[in-house]
Amino acid sequence: MNSTNPRNKMQDDDSKKGMKKDFKFRRKSCRFCEEENTEIHYRQVEVLIHLVSNKGKILPRRLTGTCARHQREVAKAIKKSRMAGLMPFSVR
Ligand SMILES: [Zn+2]
Repeated sequence: MNSTNPRNKMQDDDSKKGMKKDFKFRRKSCRFCEEENTEIHYRQVEVLIHLVSNKGKILPRRLTGTCARHQREVAKAIKKSRMAGLMPFSVR
């Protein structure tokens, strides 16, 4: 029971990281810059729903990869959408 294999340890760490970083957003580039047709509008819930967490909170830029300019518009649109009753303020 004295076999402290460093490789095993590394594998453990890796698997833990993998569990933590299991997230649906992998792309780093801004999707609104790439696809110019995708316009940010508060009625486009299908677009905005990808930018909020499953608790209804607006996801930060570092998770979605949205650029600063578009993130600002997204936040505005989501807030507007909430006021219009299209998006939830919070999900329990
Ligand atoms: Zn952008």
